Amino acid sequence: MTNPKTRERELNPRTLTARVRARAADLGVSERTVWRHVAKAKAVGPERVDLPKRYEECRYCDEPLPKNATLRRQYCDDRCRVGAARRRRELASFRDASRYRSR
Ligand SMILES: [Zn+2]
Repeated sequence: MTNPKTRERELNPRTLTARVRARAADLGVSERTVWRHVAKAKAVGPERVDLPKRYEECRYCDEPLPKNATLRRQYCDDRCRVGAARRRRELASFRDASRYRSR
């Protein structure tokens, strides 16, 4: 979907380095962390290089996460993590059930 011009710019080593630096500063992580994501994105072959994203709020209860949370952090604690997994399961079984009914 990404047009070739954009892709060229994204993979141009000079602009990519600048973007990695800006992103690392933005997220408050080391450049290595961002480079690792870039390498992974290239290895798994997506159309564009996706740089890591930081979650600012818990994906379950929407409470803000601590500012010093690692990039990987998505939930406040285990309770929210488990709650989110349960919600995903319930949604999945609900979808299965409604697919059944509509037949
Ligand atoms: Zn939470």
